Amino acid sequence: MKTITNKINLKNFSLAELQDYMLEIGESAFRGKQIFNWMYNNFASTFDEMNNIPIKLREKLNEIATINSLELVSKQSSNSTKTEKYLFATREGHKIESVIIPEHERRTLCISTQVGCPLDCKFCATGLMGFTRNLTVGEIIDQYLLTSKFIEPATITNIVYMGMGEPLLNFDATLKSLNILLNDLGNKIGRNRITVSTSGIPQKIIELADSGLRVKLALSLHSCFDDVRNKIMPINIKYNLEENIEALKYYAKKTKTKIMFEYIMLKDINDRKEDLRALVKLCSTIPSKVNLIPFNSISHMVSGGLSAELEPTPREKINEFAEQIMKKNIFVMLRNTQGDDIAAACGQLAVKQK
Ligand code: SAH
Ligand code: SF4
Repeated sequence: MKTITNKINLKNFSLAELQDYMLEIGESAFRGKQIFNWMYNNFASTFDEMNNIPIKLREKLNEIATINSLELVSKQSSNSTKTEKYLFATREGHKIESVIIPEHERRTLCISTQVGCPLDCKFCATGLMGFTRNLTVGEIIDQYLLTSKFIEPATITNIVYMGMGEPLLNFDATLKSLNILLNDLGNKIGRNRITVSTSGIPQKIIELADSGLRVKLALSLHSCFDDVRNKIMPINIKYNLEENIEALKYYAKKTKTKIMFEYIMLKDINDRKEDLRALVKLCSTIPSKVNLIPFNSISHMVSGGLSAELEPTPREKINEFAEQIMKKNIFVMLRNTQGDDIAAACGQLAVKQK
């Protein structure tokens, strides 16, 4: 374990808070704006490089503050796709991952919100890790800033909150990071290029709708039947489908966006005729799209239980399922298995903590 200093971390601050902090330490609010610009537009990682800040203030900041939330430990690239997986360490040494998925003109950053995840979905590698703690705002933001710095002069065009953890269980930090990325950063990345994915926490879906941020929302649906969902996603026992669908209807109406239903295709579990019928019916009741996801096996990581038994639906059957959905005039996407060879595909993000 590393020693952790008590320095105040400026990456946990919104722009307004940074300006207030400058006033608090006897400086002008304008310095806050300058420092924000250094961190967010020049990806500065030290106060010393902020050369339009007086040396005296830089020295003072070095004493009392820091702008380092995460440290880049390593980067792996996939041979088959151009996916890149970044391994970061928090200041006390916890490991988390982010992934950049390039596709045509887009570079999508997939960020983590927790070290591990408490929700124990049976198909998910992160779930198998258990839960250590929530990430701070600075740690969420630093995944964007450090990868941006790394890929310069290219830029990140889209962000998905689909890495390790459940964003809506780290709601305040998630919301604040969204506010910084959308409002403080001034439309560098638009709200329709940011997606938050959740396993379904109804009260928080409503709060996110009321936040006015209007980002895209994805629900990890995976089955339209409570009994199946209870088995593969234990959180469904607490918050069932009906409650979640109500919350999603509210979200779609309030934000005027379509809900994305993520649906991992699991052989004989959610790829039957009745599953197709139920999915089509659900989509007709709410403005939505479907994202069919080939299951990335995690059987090598477990020795028993349901997780060891789950198998992917064969590709042909996935295609057929997609066609049937399309025939009903529902927008459906088939996700590629991006970065499978470096375990950077969805649900494969898990790192040993020691
Ligand atoms: N906790 C949030 C966000 C992180 S998971 C959520 O569950 O939505 C991001 C996406 O990866 C989710 O759609 C999740 O269901 C999917 N996923 C998890 N395990 C997977 C696996 N083994 N194969 C394919 N997708 C997986
Ligand atoms: Fe957590 Fe999402 Fe994985 Fe479920 S799928 S264990 S909610 S990260």
